[in-house]
Amino acid sequence: MVSSRDNHAPLGLAKSMHRSGRKSIPDLNREFSKFLGITSEDLHLLGVCHDALLQGSERFGQLFYNYLFNFAATAGVLAEYQRSGNSIDALVKKQQDHLTALLSGDVSDGNAERLMAIGKIHCHYGIEPAWIMGAYWLYLDHLRIVILGLQQMDSSGHKRLLAVVSRLLFRDMGMMLEGYWAEAVGAVAEEHKKVVDLRERVESLLSNIPQLLWSIDTTTQQPLYVSPNAYQVCGTDISMPIPCLKWTVPDDQEMVGAAWQQAVQGNRVEVESRVIGPEGRERWFRRVFQPFTDTEGKVLRVDGLLEDISESKRNREHLRRLATTDELTGLPNRTLWHDRVDQAISGARREGKMVALMLLDLNHFKEINDTLGHHIGDEILRLVGMRLKSMLRDSDTLARLGGDEFAILLPDVVNGRVDAERVASHVTDCFNEPLCHEDNELYLGAAIGITLFPDDGDDTSTLMRRADVAMYAAKQADTGFRFYDYQSDTNTTQRLQLSGDLRHALKRHEFELYFQPIISLASNRVTGAEALLRWHHPKHGLILPAEFLPAAEQTGLINALTDWVVQSAVAHIGRWREAGMELPVAVNVSTRSFQAPRLVDRVGAILGRARVPGRLLEIEITENGLMNDFERGHRVVRELHELGVSIAIDDFGTGYSSLAYLKRLPIDTLKIDRSFVIDMATDEGDATIVRSTIDLGHNLGFRVVAEGVESSHVQGMLALLGCDFAQGYCISQPVPAPEFERWLKTSPLGYI
Ligand code: C2E
Ligand code: CA
Ligand code: CA
Repeated sequence: MVSSRDNHAPLGLAKSMHRSGRKSIPDLNREFSKFLGITSEDLHLLGVCHDALLQGSERFGQLFYNYLFNFAATAGVLAEYQRSGNSIDALVKKQQDHLTALLSGDVSDGNAERLMAIGKIHCHYGIEPAWIMGAYWLYLDHLRIVILGLQQMDSSGHKRLLAVVSRLLFRDMGMMLEGYWAEAVGAVAEEHKKVVDLRERVESLLSNIPQLLWSIDTTTQQPLYVSPNAYQVCGTDISMPIPCLKWTVPDDQEMVGAAWQQAVQGNRVEVESRVIGPEGRERWFRRVFQPFTDTEGKVLRVDGLLEDISESKRNREHLRRLATTDELTGLPNRTLWHDRVDQAISGARREGKMVALMLLDLNHFKEINDTLGHHIGDEILRLVGMRLKSMLRDSDTLARLGGDEFAILLPDVVNGRVDAERVASHVTDCFNEPLCHEDNELYLGAAIGITLFPDDGDDTSTLMRRADVAMYAAKQADTGFRFYDYQSDTNTTQRLQLSGDLRHALKRHEFELYFQPIISLASNRVTGAEALLRWHHPKHGLILPAEFLPAAEQTGLINALTDWVVQSAVAHIGRWREAGMELPVAVNVSTRSFQAPRLVDRVGAILGRARVPGRLLEIEITENGLMNDFERGHRVVRELHELGVSIAIDDFGTGYSSLAYLKRLPIDTLKIDRSFVIDMATDEGDATIVRSTIDLGHNLGFRVVAEGVESSHVQGMLALLGCDFAQGYCISQPVPAPEFERWLKTSPLGYI
C-alpha cells in the first residue's frame, strides 16, 4: 500500500528540486529508487536473467522505430531528425544499447545523470512527454512477451521478473522525465528572468520620468497599473479611480471630476489643477485622461498621465509679470499702462464718463542720482512709488514709465477737472514731507501734467503727448501741476511738428555736419575737429541740436541719426586723408545711442567700409552716459579702443563722476564744459574748477580740452595752466566742411 503522504512525495520531490534547485542527482536517484522499491534482490534476479531477457533485442530496436514511423506525430519528428543529417540507424543502435543498459540493472548516479541528459535532449527537440511514455510502453510490451516466454521459471517467477523489469522501466522513464522537466523549467526560468529584467527596466524608467502614468479598469474602477512615482506625489494613498483626486485642492476637484466623467464616456480630456501632496507643497499638474475602447466603442479602461507643470507655470507667470511690471518698483510698466488707458478710454466712451491722465516727473532727480549714486536713486524711486500708491484708490492705476517718470490713471472722474485737481494737489502735497532714506532726508518735488478724456484728446497717444506738454509747462513754471491748455501750446505744437518732420529729414538729406577746429595750446596748431550736427529745416531754416535732439531721442530716431553722423564724419576724414591731411575728428554720441546694442559693430563696419583707421575717430560721450550702466559703458569703451577709436568725456564737470570709476575706464580725453571756461577770466570759482580739472585730468593720464574758449585772454590762461587743447569761437565757430577746409588753408593756425 502507498500512503497518502507517499502518494504526494514525487510532487514534493519535484517541487523541491526545481523550485529550489537544490536537490542533487544522487539524492534524487536514491529517493526515487527507494520509492519504486527497487531492492538488491531485484538487481540480483535481473543479473541472473540478463542474457535471457536480451533475446530479440537486436530486432527490437528496428521494430521500435518502425512503429514510431507509423504515427504521424512521431514520424514527423523522426523525419525532421533525418533531414538535419542524422541517421535512424544510429538511433536503432542507441535504442538497443539503452535496453541492454536497462536490463543490466545499472541504477548508479551516473546512469541517472545519463538518463536525465537524454530527457533534456528530448525536450530540446520538442518530443512531447506522452510520446516518451508511449515508447516505454513499447519497451514493457516487448519485455513482457520475452518474460512470459521464459521456460526456466514458473508463472510466479514470471510475475516477479515482470515486476522487477517494470520498476526499472519506471525508474528509467522517471529519470528521463526529470531531465525533460528540468530543461523545460530552465527554459521557462530564462524567459521569466528576461521578463523580470525588462519589467525592472520599465519600472525604473517610469519612476525616473517626471510624468506619472496609470491605467484604470473602468468596469471595476480598480487600477491596472500605477507608475511607482505616483506615490511621490500623493503618498501611499493615491485614491481611485481618479488618482490623487483626494490631494487635489478642493476648488479644482469638481473640474477634475468632470474631466474624468468625460473620459469615461470616451473623450480625451486635459485639465490643469493644483495638488497639495502629503508634504504640504502646492504644485500644478497637467492631467490627461485617455479612454481606451473596444471595437464597439465601449470604454474598457482610461489611461492617464499626471505631469508637474509648476515650473513652466511659474516661468510663464514670471514672463507675464516681466512684460507688464516695472522691475524696480513693482508697479505697472509702460506696456500695462497703455493697456489700462486704452481700456479706461473705451469704457468711458461707452458709458459717457471722463478719464484723467497724469504724467509726473520728479524735479531734480538727476541730482540725487548724481550725488548719492544709483542705488540710492533706485531706493528713492521705490519710496516715491509707495507714497504715490498710498494716495490713490485701488481702481486708479499708478505706473512707472521709466526713469523718474510716473503716470497716474483715474479711470472715472465724475467731476472731471475738479476731481483731477484734488488728486493732483494731494499728490503734489505729498512731496512736502521729506523722503527718508537711511540718514538722508530728501525733499523732492514733482511736475505733473494732466489731460482729460474726452476734452483733451480722443485716444491714448494724443492724451499722453498732451499730458507731456502740460508736464513741461508745469516744470518750467514750477507750479506743481498743470492741465493741458491747447491755446498756449504753440511752442509745443511746433516741437511736436518738428518731431514729425524729423522722421523725413534723414531721407531728405536735411542734415549737415559742421566742423569746429581744436588746437594744441602748446603749438598753436590745429590738431583735430569736432563734428557738430545741423538741421536745415525746409521751413524753419537752420536748427541747432538742442532743439531737435530731445525729440530725436524721444522718437527713437537718435540711433539712425548717430549712424548718419558717424558715417558722414568718417567720409570726411577719408576724403581729407586722401588729400594728404590726416585730421582726427570727434563726434558726439548721445547716451541713448551709446547704450544701444551693436554700437561698436556699427562703428567698426563704417570705418571698415571707408577704409579709415580707427585712430582718426574720437567719440564724445557725457559722464552720465558712461556712468548710467558702468559695466556696459566699460565694455563699449574697451571695444571701441580695440577698433583704435579714442574716447572723450564731454561736458566734464556738469555731471557726477565717481573718480574711482573714471580711473578704471580707458578714457583718452577730458573736455571741460564750456560753462566753466567761458567766464573763467572773470569768475574766480570757474577758474579754480578749470585749473583743478586740468590737474585732475593730467593725474589720471588724460588729454585735456577746454571748450567754449571765446577770448584770447582765456586762451592764454589755459595755456599757462597747462591745458593741452582748446576749442571755441575765438578760434573758429563750427562751420560747414568746405568753409572749414578753406579756413585750414588760410588761417595762421592752419593744419600741421
Ligand atoms: P557739445 O558737445 O558741448 O558741443 C559744443 C557746443 O558748444 C556746440 O554747440 C558748439 O557750437 C558750442 N560752442 C563751440 N564753441 C563755443 C564757444 O566758444 N562759446 C559757446 N558759447 N559755445 C561754443 P552746438 O553745435 O549747438 O551743439 C550743442 C550740443 O548738441 C553739443 O554740445 C552736443 O552735446 C550736441 N550735439 C551736437 N552735435 C551732435 C551730434 O552729432 N550728435 C549728438 N548726439 N549730439 C550732438
Ligand atoms: Ca561735444
Ligand atoms: Ca561739450
